[in-house]
Amino acid sequence: MFLGTSIQYTTDMKIDILTLFPEMFKGPFDESMIKKARDEGLVEVNIHNLRDWAKDKHKSVDDRPYGGGPGMILRVDVMERALKNLKSSVSNHQSSIILLTPQGNVFSQKKAQELSKLNHLILVAGHYEGFDERIREHLVDEEISIGDYVLTGGELPTMVVVDAVVRLIPGVLEKEAKDNESFSKWKMENGKWKITLDYPQYTRPENFRGWNVPEVLLSGNHAEISRWRKVHAEKRTRERRPDLLKK
Ligand code: SAM
Repeated sequence: MFLGTSIQYTTDMKIDILTLFPEMFKGPFDESMIKKARDEGLVEVNIHNLRDWAKDKHKSVDDRPYGGGPGMILRVDVMERALKNLKSSVSNHQSSIILLTPQGNVFSQKKAQELSKLNHLILVAGHYEGFDERIREHLVDEEISIGDYVLTGGELPTMVVVDAVVRLIPGVLEKEAKDNESFSKWKMENGKWKITLDYPQYTRPENFRGWNVPEVLLSGNHAEISRWRKVHAEKRTRERRPDLLKK
């Protein structure tokens, strides 16, 4: 992970993250899939401290709300400087400036797929009471929420979005691994496409305390196994998330 640097790699996607707490990203981005994707040059992730664009000696990025009330609000002027600078670092790219906020559109696999096709994402993690409304109105392309609850800051939501997007960049995971996952489209027996949850999975031992693995999965008959998986993916979705089948 690169804190406040502008190291350039030849990658398919560049992700710039604007935050007041850059250190929070250290663990999650230095392990597992995101580390591998970065090491292999498939994605470049840069973490920037919003305070680097503050102008006063205290490095202020926020102020009290007009009209009174609790908490501090992130300032539009500092944000504009930061975003202009980050945007100008990449030319001729399909990009999106995204604000993480509980007031945004709820994040989904579909949105992750959409974002994984862009070349440049700028993700803005808020903190305190939130953002000056003019940031929303004039400086960003979209607002994303990771669910109907309020977190202390946008850092965890940013990590959620980055993880879901990076694993979809071609080459990061095996293609098959993504095809069969929950919220992916399946072509069903009747030729119709459906969005389902994943099918049940088993591994060794074959028999544990009398709990047996379904025999079809041990049969080696790939056509039968594929049929069983589709049926069970659909059954599970009907039981747990019938709303997905209606989409
Ligand atoms: N006053 C704001 C409101 O009610 O909409 C909440 C501010 S919250 C305490 C501080 C920051 O955390 C937000 O600006 C946002 O960046 C982030 N945040 C909190 N919950 C979130 C969620 N569900 N999805 C995305 N970001 C969230």
